[in-house]
Amino acid sequence: MTFRDDASLSTDQVRRGGRGGGIGGRGVAAGGGIGGLLIAVLVYLHGGDPSGLPGGTVSGGQVDYSSPYVSDADAQSGTSQAFPQCRTGADANEDVDCRMVGTVISVQDYWSGAFRDYREAPTVIFDGSVQTGCGGADSSVGPFYCPVDSTIYLDTGFFDQLERLGGDGGPLSQMYVVAHEYGHHIQNLTGVLARSQQDRQGPESGAVRTELQADCFAGAWVAHASQTQDADGETLLEPITPEQIESALSAAEAVGDDRIQRTTQGRVEPEAWTHGSSAQRQHWFMVGYDTGDPRQCDTFNAASLDG
Ligand SMILES: [Zn+2]
Repeated sequence: MTFRDDASLSTDQVRRGGRGGGIGGRGVAAGGGIGGLLIAVLVYLHGGDPSGLPGGTVSGGQVDYSSPYVSDADAQSGTSQAFPQCRTGADANEDVDCRMVGTVISVQDYWSGAFRDYREAPTVIFDGSVQTGCGGADSSVGPFYCPVDSTIYLDTGFFDQLERLGGDGGPLSQMYVVAHEYGHHIQNLTGVLARSQQDRQGPESGAVRTELQADCFAGAWVAHASQTQDADGETLLEPITPEQIESALSAAEAVGDDRIQRTTQGRVEPEAWTHGSSAQRQHWFMVGYDTGDPRQCDTFNAASLDG
């Protein structure tokens, strides 16, 4: 998806975090190697014991950022400081960090209108490792959403791995990843995210249904993305093209469980699925895109997840 070159990127929704920070205490569980690159939602997210997290003040699902636990000492609170290079849509078209900034603006703009109880969630772009409300994490876990601090964490180095897995490297293949993680934020707000933890593996599991719904939510955003206005009331994004949809679908295919299993272990094992097959992920992305209606993303009551 292409940003309008002259669009303004003014925002404070994206921060930098974690650079140089070590990982202390209990870390975010990585799946290990390529199998961990699942665009994860944290595996122990609703463990029901936030007090068990190392340090930190957790109350009402929000992390107290004044706590020394969240070592975002180098995080900046405004894009003008964290991403001074990101001023216009042209910057977002050229620079991956700026593309993330622009994507977060559009995704949150969409959900603010589409979901009455929407609460904004920041994205933290990190490099290597980061401290989060869910523990320390490194890049091997892939992008993830932490429900404890309602924050998306993303190391853009993941996009190189996404290409190695079969993503086409186009802008929308990257933006889809961001939109998917915001889908988990919506699920946290609706309460459905907990179902990913009740039933964690298998082709019909709660985990897979949760992930496919997040894909569908990403598609619903794409359907409306060109309506986002920038700070000047002008269009942020150009209308989407069929080629760009193919780009998003290449990413959805790349992170399918069957694709990853075939690559890493040479065989497909549906009983171990946590995110759904490539075909399922593409299908649900398209349900969201074709209908533009998140209410159609009811993967929990769908008769079939295969379409
Ligand atoms: Zn996910």
